[in-house]
Amino acid sequence: MSKPKKITVTDTILRDAHQSIIATRMRLDDMLPICPKLDQVGYWSLEVWGGATFDACVRFLKEDPWERLRKLKAALPNTRLQMLLRGQNLLGYRHYSDDVVRAFVAKAAVNGIDVFRIFDAMNDVRNLRVAIEAVKAAGKHAQGTLAYTTSPVHTVKAYVEQARAMQAMGIDSIAIKDMAGLLTPYSAFELVQALKAEVDLPVFVHSHDTAGLGAMCQLKAIEAGADHIDTAISSFAWGTSHPGTESMVAALRGTPFDTGLDLALLQEIGLYFHAVRKKYHQFESEFTAVDTRVQINQVPGGMMSNLANQLKEQGALNRINEVFAEIPRVREDLGFPPLVTPTSQIVGTQAVFNVLAGERYKTITNEVKLYLQGRYGLAPGKVNEQLRKQAIGSEEVIEVRPADLLKSEMAKLREEIGALAACEEDVLTYAMFPDIGRKFLEERAAGNLKPEALLPIPEAGGVAPAGGEGVPTEFVVDVHGESYRVDITGVGVKSDGKRHFYLSIDGMPEEVVFEPLNDFVAGSGSKRKQASAPGDVSTSMPGNIVEVLVKVGDVVKAGQAVLISEAMKMESEVQAPIAGTVKAVHVAKGDRVNPGDVLVEIEG
Ligand code: MN
Repeated sequence: MSKPKKITVTDTILRDAHQSIIATRMRLDDMLPICPKLDQVGYWSLEVWGGATFDACVRFLKEDPWERLRKLKAALPNTRLQMLLRGQNLLGYRHYSDDVVRAFVAKAAVNGIDVFRIFDAMNDVRNLRVAIEAVKAAGKHAQGTLAYTTSPVHTVKAYVEQARAMQAMGIDSIAIKDMAGLLTPYSAFELVQALKAEVDLPVFVHSHDTAGLGAMCQLKAIEAGADHIDTAISSFAWGTSHPGTESMVAALRGTPFDTGLDLALLQEIGLYFHAVRKKYHQFESEFTAVDTRVQINQVPGGMMSNLANQLKEQGALNRINEVFAEIPRVREDLGFPPLVTPTSQIVGTQAVFNVLAGERYKTITNEVKLYLQGRYGLAPGKVNEQLRKQAIGSEEVIEVRPADLLKSEMAKLREEIGALAACEEDVLTYAMFPDIGRKFLEERAAGNLKPEALLPIPEAGGVAPAGGEGVPTEFVVDVHGESYRVDITGVGVKSDGKRHFYLSIDGMPEEVVFEPLNDFVAGSGSKRKQASAPGDVSTSMPGNIVEVLVKVGDVVKAGQAVLISEAMKMESEVQAPIAGTVKAVHVAKGDRVNPGDVLVEIEG
């Protein structure tokens, strides 16, 4: 056992804990009232920003993420604020040019971030360099991250080498980021011992409790010399989230590792969030509890609930085990990337396509193609060359750092968003999420920002009202004094005798899915006719049309891409099932589509 020392703590309640438990939906209004108490605790830091919070703010909550950060900073003057940053991907899903990375980090620092935990989904350190430089230039704490996974190529030696490479780039500390709950207590001990022996930096342990091992891993890591643990206040802890703050504080109390944090104060905070969690019950996935399958399928907590929601939307939740079985196979084909945003989406979505299409790699997402070209960085292991050939043909595979191929973008982004951006922060919001970012800025300019509705908290032991004859498909719902117009816009695929309804709230399509307790029917659902002829083009997943590539009269080959659709944040080509002439196009860019709808008709 290494020399005992006081252990410092980051509470993830304002970022990862609610990302892992309630799909990142916690609103600023539920954070601010408890900030005075959080600020008294003496945490080393509070994780408050980054990860999926920025996306959720803009997409669902209609909060300006920068304003959230400034308000948290003002409310937490005595505590470091921490964010999670995806290296060259920042908070988006692609690689940004270096000038965007520098601008983003500088603005995050100015608006309140003190500690930047920087990771790359491939553990390709080339993708961390510019972000680390930018954090140091802003005078802030740069934490280099080992995205922890297991595979034949992920050895302790490889992690130590990565840590050394990050040390040479100037990081202040190292995080072991066990996003999926894959770490085991003794592997944690071995890894931390090796890091402490060979790299002279504080070691932080971020271990999700998905497999029920999180607290044990942290304890063994502490015994091996780790300096710091990430926890979640108990009412948002455990399962796909983190070990409970109060539990870890109690476990270490009175030992040489004592955190010094006040348990009574923590329990008051825990009770506060216990009430908050109930407000967000509609976003709780059934996969938030301990699930040991992660030790095989490697699916991180956030991704687990996302996959479940997405499959549910398609009426295919019953196939989740097939998807879990497919994920490790896709991962091996791609050279064992760790599963963390964006690789978790890339691998997860391809696995869903492979299962739902009934044939592996019948559809290959554009992101998998880019991955196989080296455009996310170097794969940790060898990729399946046959798949690479099938996916990209003779297109070139790049060997340089992906961002080396990108031209500066800030000037172009500023020009594109124009007067909608009131400041540089707005330009960066648009840079992160071009479509929803622009929409957010437009709605803000029009004074029309409406957050998604929260469903009322069910009474204890109560039953939701059953639908009957004459159930309307349009109605107005009042929630906390705000009125929302709700339309049932479609009926999803029927499975297990349940119907899945697609809603729009105030004209916005929503991903909320209801399963009625009895069998009422709300119209015929989808307005498009259903595919039956061999030349009918349809998708296997609900999604949005990103691009229409053909027009009436075009001659197409079998297998030619005619549409690009987006589902589960991934784009893929929709191909012509037969060769022939385009007879009709029933969709336009931006349309929401359901499986089986005829989108394009081709006459052979
Ligand atoms: Mn995490």
